[in-house]
Amino acid sequence: MQNHPVLLDIHTHCISSGHGSRDTITDMARAASIRSLKILGISDHGPATKGAGSSSYFRNLLLADRCRFGITLLYGVELNILNEKGDVDLEDSLISSLDYAFVSMHHPSFKTDHTLNKKVCTNAYINAMKHPGVRFLGHPDDGCFPVDYKQLLSACIKYQVYPEINNASLKPDAYRTEGFKNSLEILSLCKKLKLPILLSSDSHGKEHVGDMKYIFPLLKQCQFPPELILNENIEFFMKILGLSKMCMPSFTSHSHMK
Ligand SMILES: [Zn+2]
Ligand SMILES: [Zn+2]
Repeated sequence: MQNHPVLLDIHTHCISSGHGSRDTITDMARAASIRSLKILGISDHGPATKGAGSSSYFRNLLLADRCRFGITLLYGVELNILNEKGDVDLEDSLISSLDYAFVSMHHPSFKTDHTLNKKVCTNAYINAMKHPGVRFLGHPDDGCFPVDYKQLLSACIKYQVYPEINNASLKPDAYRTEGFKNSLEILSLCKKLKLPILLSSDSHGKEHVGDMKYIFPLLKQCQFPPELILNENIEFFMKILGLSKMCMPSFTSHSHMK
């Protein structure tokens, strides 16, 4: 099949996530440039993840370069949802100062006194969406944290938050469960609701930056409309982040997955 152009990848982790990546932002930007991405977003884990950066790391990102190797760099965070109330692991003022935030559920950061069921996990995601600066749901496909997708995606529309389709969840050796089935359900509902989605590599290091290869067959299977894929609509993508006048290379030529 003809692959979709991959213009941007904003769910990536560098050495500051504290696990799984030994690559620096420079290494990641170089890899993104070689693969012809236009925008690379670094979204390291919030402080609740063991070994991840503290608040001061995220504060210092505000001073980091915006343009490296001819591509635009964005700086965000993958927040840990801590409980059913939707508390997260960075203060709201700092989240707001970053370019964007994902909210994700991870073991062992998420704590509950109840059984981990759809009600608890759906409430947690929806409550976490209410923090300022939260724009994306991180891997809502994870069967370890079951959710009611109709309820979750309706809340996305209400709070202007966008679900991601996560390439790492679809790998044959993925540690998340039910990624394939749940991603298909998310795609099918988003198509019906006309809710845009974000495609992400969730690369831990430079190796998989921009790698969406497990997502493409699902998009084809669902006949998912390209106009609802944020990665293919950079102007709209920048608009929802409230970013327009940054170091922006020309976006006239579309790249393709190598
Ligand atoms: Zn995650
Ligand atoms: Zn991640």
